[in-house]
Amino acid sequence: MVHSEKSEITREPEAIGKRRADIKNLLSTDTPEILDMTTLKKIARAFIKQKFPLSAAGLVLKEKTEQALNEDDVQELQLLYGSLPTVDNPHFELFDDLAVKEDESIFGQDLATVQSTKGCSKQCTFCLADASEKLEIMPYTAVAKLAERVQLENKKICSLMIDVFNKIKSETGYSVGDVDKMCFDFNSIPEKDYQKIIDIYNKHPISGLIPWRDDYIEYPHAFFMRRLPNFAGSDPFDYKDTSFLHNDGTPADYGDVFIAFDHPLRPVEINTAGWRRSNKTAQRGAEKIVKACLEGPREGKSNIINISVHRFSRSARLDYREYLEEMKNVIATFSPLKPVIKLYDNPNEEGNAEFIEVVVKPLLEFIKTLPEGDKIIIWNQNVRNIGRAAKEAQKAEYDEISDTSMLGIHIWPDGTIANKISGAKDSKPVATARRLYILSK
Ligand code: SF4
Repeated sequence: MVHSEKSEITREPEAIGKRRADIKNLLSTDTPEILDMTTLKKIARAFIKQKFPLSAAGLVLKEKTEQALNEDDVQELQLLYGSLPTVDNPHFELFDDLAVKEDESIFGQDLATVQSTKGCSKQCTFCLADASEKLEIMPYTAVAKLAERVQLENKKICSLMIDVFNKIKSETGYSVGDVDKMCFDFNSIPEKDYQKIIDIYNKHPISGLIPWRDDYIEYPHAFFMRRLPNFAGSDPFDYKDTSFLHNDGTPADYGDVFIAFDHPLRPVEINTAGWRRSNKTAQRGAEKIVKACLEGPREGKSNIINISVHRFSRSARLDYREYLEEMKNVIATFSPLKPVIKLYDNPNEEGNAEFIEVVVKPLLEFIKTLPEGDKIIIWNQNVRNIGRAAKEAQKAEYDEISDTSMLGIHIWPDGTIANKISGAKDSKPVATARRLYILSK
């Protein structure tokens, strides 16, 4: 039962039952969990703010929802509730399709990132991407629709993998791995027979999607290592879609994005400079990720969380002591996943003595107290003068360094398809004219 702000509705009158049936015919509905009227109104208001294009059914629902909100029609809102999209029930039928053909494969191995945010709140002085302070957020609808296509592609590749593994087994007698565990293994195969296996692989359709590389024999995990990050010159924990809520009224968070895209074939990699302790959305997202990863441990691929610690982000520049507490929280949250903690600075450089005393030393002590242990800590040097902090003469050198990362297709929050190609002068992805969806203003 829905609870209104002032009074509790305890029975469903017959007329409401009939209207519920009518609307159920008009729009696809599932009977939702009961919630309070304040939350229901939040979900209704969020729906009418959608920027992602609506389908005909979506437009009908939007009109009805607007009217019910304007008239404060509690009963009508109650009736509409099951049709309103939430993260828990995104109701794809309310939204237009992506502008992409059924069989078009931009969601496969060439997809380098699906950028859920553009711009960055951290504003690190050395940012290689020169990230803008203005944040663009990919609507959760787009996240869910893109993730659906990526997951279809993942499934297709997995079934080809199973097929080629079976073929190798039936033609040579050798087992080269286990697709369920995303593991490729040449250990038990005599070297003289490698070529037979490579020949079978190269004649199979899988080779058109994942071309054979000889280093797969020595580094079999590399075969399954095409990760899919949601960042590129951005921090994924800036993600928050206030126009797409959960059933409890909280906004879509980065945990929802991570879970939508994550797949053992293409684990979602995270690079973050952390989040404020007051940022409940980021915290909730991080906790969801930890839970999801612990429930589905991946073979040899647990180190997908990289945490940067340095004195150059906005929050560190403001207050080292608060920054220390912030980063303790971030590291403790991800600790069960054994994150890689990168200390970006030169420990011997003058000018960081205070940072080392106030942040680094206590943080390293704190890390030792965490039960999971085994964090990988790396000191990266000389970041003070890279990225936007670099002098003009140094910029070309750093463009060259970053040029080889994240090559391929990038999808931006506004639906733009961008490309980053090897050897390009500019190390950033370049927008094509194609958009997968057009957001309203
Ligand atoms: S967190 Fe990363 S993307 Fe954001 S400003 Fe810092 S370096 Fe740039």
